[in-house]
Amino acid sequence: MSVKYVESSKLPTSWGMFEMHGFADDSNDKEHVVLSMGDLSGDQPVLVRIHSECLTGDALFSLRCDCGAQLQAAMHRIAVEGRGAIFYLRQEGRGIGLINKIRAYHLQDKGADTVEANEQLGFGADMRDYSMLKAMFDKMGIDKVKLMTNNPRKMEALRELGINAVERLPHETGRNPHNAHYLETKRGKLGHLFQAEGEDT
Ligand SMILES: [Zn+2]
Repeated sequence: MSVKYVESSKLPTSWGMFEMHGFADDSNDKEHVVLSMGDLSGDQPVLVRIHSECLTGDALFSLRCDCGAQLQAAMHRIAVEGRGAIFYLRQEGRGIGLINKIRAYHLQDKGADTVEANEQLGFGADMRDYSMLKAMFDKMGIDKVKLMTNNPRKMEALRELGINAVERLPHETGRNPHNAHYLETKRGKLGHLFQAEGEDT
């Protein structure tokens, strides 16, 4: 496994004090972080979010997707529980990179959906890689996971890596008029589950 733990520091946030843990993958020069709160050891399942970087949603306030709202909701839920971890993976645009994401958005502006746009650019619908997670979970000392996600495939991906994902917690937030079609595509083509289908919130 080529991802290696490097260093940790405090990260004060609007939701409380997190610890930030840096990991470097020398096989592809990617850098990932884990934000943790509380004691993650022991038998009680740990509240976890696996979040792939979305510069536009996480940092630029984009409403084209639900990433920013999901990241903030995960930080809030962990702060309320006082214990949990966010694995922030640097794989922009479901793994295609920032510039290709702009190309995909351009195609979507002209009518393609998020899956069709990726395919027109020659990419798979979802190019994300989770193989680095096993080493990161082991380093964090997490045994059992309750995962905040609407994506059952993410649960399967963890289990295939040997990570003990014991429970899926729906994580529905950030629906707005600009991303309604995007979320519908994620439900219809990428297998995401939404309980609040059709609601405006
Ligand atoms: Zn996003």
